[in-house]
Amino acid sequence: MEVLKQRILKDGNIKPGNVLKVDSFLNHQMDIHLFNEIGKEFKKRFANNPITKILTIETSGIGIACIVAQYFDVPVVFAKKTQSINLDGDMYCTKVESFTHKRTYDVIIAKKFLTPEDHVLIIDDFLANGCALLGLIDLVQNAGSTIEGAGIVIEKGFQKGGNIIREMGIHLESLAIIESMTDDTLTFKE
Ligand code: 5GP
Repeated sequence: MEVLKQRILKDGNIKPGNVLKVDSFLNHQMDIHLFNEIGKEFKKRFANNPITKILTIETSGIGIACIVAQYFDVPVVFAKKTQSINLDGDMYCTKVESFTHKRTYDVIIAKKFLTPEDHVLIIDDFLANGCALLGLIDLVQNAGSTIEGAGIVIEKGFQKGGNIIREMGIHLESLAIIESMTDDTLTFKE
């Protein structure tokens, strides 16, 4: 998605540890015009899927998922990160290791919001090693819902997540795939 790639080149900042900061337009301050373009693009790429729900993970996926969901006209559910849980049987739970914070979280979702009738599109801001996405996939599978695909805004193609998810046979669409990133250069795939 050209407009996104240009924005990353203009406003993205590369930080140590393979972290790309895009907080001026994607995940702290949010450019709603860009988000609308992102929503339209995901709608185009998943036009033939009978999606009933958008699933994301807090925090930075939520804003994007809400705008994307308007194009599909379906609700958004976000998985909540928590460190101490009382499993009361009403929740699906999985573990996710955070790429940016290097911590492991329990991630939960209320059972009543994901059912076997649901066809789910997972949305997130970044794909790096795949932990967040694998956690969300685990929750969808536990719920017996159908995974229609995953839409990622920025995939860091030099990390392993993309390959893992594609090898699972999941329809993965990433709007910008970074091929390589050094302290001062960034290149895209294609
Ligand atoms: P993964 O679980 O695939 O290793 O990492 C994905 C999650 O970590 C995303 O939900 C995102 O919030 C965060 N993340 C991974 N890489 C980056 C990055 O380069 N920049 C930012 N801002 N977040 C990242």
